[in-house]
Amino acid sequence: MTGELGGGDVFSLGVLDQAALTLGLDFANTGDLHVDPNPNERFTSYEAAVGWAEQAGILSASQAAGLAARARARPEGAAKALQRIIALREAVYRIFSAVAHDREPDPGDIQALHAELGVALVHLRLIAREDQPFAWAWAGIEDDLASLLWPVARATAALLTSPQLSRVRECAGDPCDWLFLDHSKNGSRRWCDMSECGNRAKARRYRERRKVLG
Ligand SMILES: [Zn+2]
Repeated sequence: MTGELGGGDVFSLGVLDQAALTLGLDFANTGDLHVDPNPNERFTSYEAAVGWAEQAGILSASQAAGLAARARARPEGAAKALQRIIALREAVYRIFSAVAHDREPDPGDIQALHAELGVALVHLRLIAREDQPFAWAWAGIEDDLASLLWPVARATAALLTSPQLSRVRECAGDPCDWLFLDHSKNGSRRWCDMSECGNRAKARRYRERRKVLG
């Protein structure tokens, strides 16, 4: 195990800040149309997955660069890590999609999350900070090609155990299966984005009504 302890900032997770809570959903949303024969896939390469993790604030730029270099040196390991990343992503999607539709998540998906959570928690450390007594950090995050799953697994578990779980929704847009937290007062938000999916649905309903009216 070497070097920098990373990923602590988003994950002062004793404190459940919003970024930490939605990370599991953001992760699930790196795929779209999960059950479609032609899904939209953001993780088209290992580097793409690491790029997302950097953007999401769970890897620093140097950690991301270190993992990309490691992946270039171990292409087979990187391919396997990518498979594992996508497998957990799909499990996380199915878990939250089930929750959003008031269904029981598949025990196999929960088990897949448990497996990654077990791996993740072994790497969790408390580090002393200048501005606060201690903070959470991940040890060896740049040494394991699948390490972006650690904060993701932890954040997913955090949302699953949070009262905010009841606010998880899946976009009613067609075609769209983005997951989001509904912060509307009456809990009735239906679309990931009104300007995209909401307007598309409205336009479709308008066209259908016109058709019926002839
Ligand atoms: Zn949508």
